[in-house]
Amino acid sequence: MQFSSIPGKREVKDHLITEIRSGRLPHLHLFHGREGSGELLMALAFAQYLMCENRGEEDSCGTCGSCVKVQTLAHPDLHLSFPVIKEKTAFSSDHMAEWREAVLENPFLTNTDWMRVLKAENKQGIISSDECRKIIRDLTLKSFENEHKVLVLWLPEYFSRGGQTGNTLLKFLEEPTPNTHIILVTNAMDQLLATIISRAQIVQIPDFEDEEISSYLSTVGEVSPDRAKEAAFLADGNMNKAIKLSSDQEVSPAQQFERWMSLCKSSKNQPLMDFSDELAGLGRERLKDFLIQCIGILREFNALHYVPEHRMRIPGELTDFRRKFASFIDHECVAEMYENLNDAAYHIGQYANARIELFQLSLALRRSLQKQNHRKKQGVAS
Ligand SMILES: [Zn+2]
Repeated sequence: MQFSSIPGKREVKDHLITEIRSGRLPHLHLFHGREGSGELLMALAFAQYLMCENRGEEDSCGTCGSCVKVQTLAHPDLHLSFPVIKEKTAFSSDHMAEWREAVLENPFLTNTDWMRVLKAENKQGIISSDECRKIIRDLTLKSFENEHKVLVLWLPEYFSRGGQTGNTLLKFLEEPTPNTHIILVTNAMDQLLATIISRAQIVQIPDFEDEEISSYLSTVGEVSPDRAKEAAFLADGNMNKAIKLSSDQEVSPAQQFERWMSLCKSSKNQPLMDFSDELAGLGRERLKDFLIQCIGILREFNALHYVPEHRMRIPGELTDFRRKFASFIDHECVAEMYENLNDAAYHIGQYANARIELFQLSLALRRSLQKQNHRKKQGVAS
């Protein structure tokens, strides 16, 4: 993992490189970023740079013995720790092969993805006291090959017993063995013990810019520029989401939304019901995401309504449908639709029956459009 494999974020990279090159490296870092911000990848690139035998000005060399091993997550001095399912094991090392494979396949991996790999179902992952004691034991050993020993601990918010397990590590975090560097990577700093935060050098990882996401998807994922642009806009800075959006849907969310609106505008119920069933088939997480994306898409139509020269951030031509739909809706209608989409996304997250929820939502959206139609007619008549 070289810094160059992470789009953008030059400031963070420069800061980390300067720290290492200055020789005044704090022994404990806390990398904090939202899911999909490349927080784990940044930690691994940092570890690789630190351990590289032939560091460049801006990046690790990528070819020395150390880089090759870090890149495959198989360096004996790179220690890795992450949440596992208590019922199966207390130790990350028992799942190292799966974790390695998952991260190498998608370095923007989230905890939800990882729990799916572990087939956790409804169980939550944890980092146990036994794992913390093992970390201390392992890091107390002499390093094998490298001058440095590095621990990347992913998601300390999953320390068991409400974070208290982190206490086991505290003393070690304060005074680790020489040449030991610890990088905690978190998505939820507010869930960490204050005593850990106060001992760490905090590195904020910003969200990705739309441009960074779309060019990454076009080059790495071989996604068409239009599709990449749409995924970037809808993913809201989250690369993991963007990768999924651009790969697993045959029909783009904007196309789905437009089809939905056409069905809502007609008075026939059966097609609307069929469409709701089809959407329900997406599964809870993706469905919730889709509804939130619809809010973003609707916002674009609203912008076009008030600013005719607005260039929509959803791909494709300004079709007849788009032009007409944008001129048809107004703020009142959009506000109502936002609220209904938002409520439905919330209910679906709360395990409401997706098919029923979606059909009711479709009817509510249709009512908003009908009311809008009525207002228009009245406006014309008066
Ligand atoms: Zn190297």
